[in-house]
Amino acid sequence: MAPATSVLSMIGNTPMLELTHLDTGPCRLFVKLENQNPAGSIKDRIGLSIVEAAERDGSLKPGGTIVEATAGNTGLGLALVAAQKGYRLVLVIPDKMSADKIRHLRALGAEVRLTRSDVPKGHPEYYQDMAERIVKETPGAFWASQFDNPANPAAHETTTGPEIWAQMDGQVDALVAGVGSGGTISGAGRFLKAKNPALKVVVADPEGSVVAPAVETGEVKYEGGSWLVEGIGEDFIPPNLDLSVIDDGVVVSDAEAFSAVNELLRSEGILGGSSTGTLLAGALKWCRRQTEPKNVVTFVCDTGNKYLSKAFDRTWLVEQGLTPREDSGDLRDLIM
Ligand code: PMP
Repeated sequence: MAPATSVLSMIGNTPMLELTHLDTGPCRLFVKLENQNPAGSIKDRIGLSIVEAAERDGSLKPGGTIVEATAGNTGLGLALVAAQKGYRLVLVIPDKMSADKIRHLRALGAEVRLTRSDVPKGHPEYYQDMAERIVKETPGAFWASQFDNPANPAAHETTTGPEIWAQMDGQVDALVAGVGSGGTISGAGRFLKAKNPALKVVVADPEGSVVAPAVETGEVKYEGGSWLVEGIGEDFIPPNLDLSVIDDGVVVSDAEAFSAVNELLRSEGILGGSSTGTLLAGALKWCRRQTEPKNVVTFVCDTGNKYLSKAFDRTWLVEQGLTPREDSGDLRDLIM
């Protein structure tokens, strides 16, 4: 491979790995390694597409300010792109997000405003409402707005989906994805279904989130649930989520997600983040329900490096009730 001349050209074209050590029932299960993007996650793709769409339509001018409400990874993608292209970036982040993600954002030059995680949409301190307010108060500000910006699903419709199709040589029967903004599942799902209308798009959703129940019942009912996996699961249906693309929903508990992401590291050597655990556990559940052989693709959305003190720390897992204490023996020996 010839040397690249810009880190931005290294976004996307991520590798695909078949998982061969896990019990996948009658299916073959493949993961697209989005952790290998330069800023470390699947959201690098939309960082680039959102900024370039705004440059094209004039909503972002040279030296302008980009504002976003983000759980972290979109912030990292935007921070990479903003730093490379010379924009100021202000990020509003709920305070439940890992401290290392926040350090990483600040090191990339982003201005981080922390806000409360425990307030609902419509509350002035809800991260999206706060971002909207900062945009109004800042001259020359552009709101990236990943939840309703069409450049988000477009990134996945024009890059993620086509890459999957090409890597699988058209032999893909199901896509399993999570929903944060809805960009990945809607964009990649739309592209793959246009190629193969029989393909199933499956949402792997944290227990307590509204998406999988909405797919099953058509009703959106948030009952105050919360979950520890980061980056996916919703208390509303984001405008960028095209529910009509999703065929099936699988609900995954935190315990299943954290166990799956540890298993992925031990058995396949891949260090994924917590949402990867939800996707993998969801994909495995879906696979084991099948009676025919299927090729299933899911994602390693980001790297587990950011979650070493949570998902990969047995003491934390025990404290959260995610690993049975009786299995743990002497905790001092079990800090991994
Ligand atoms: N995994 C992680 C770690 C994320 O940060 C996100 C986005 N917040 C997703 C998955 C979900 O992707 P999308 O926003 O495209 O629905």
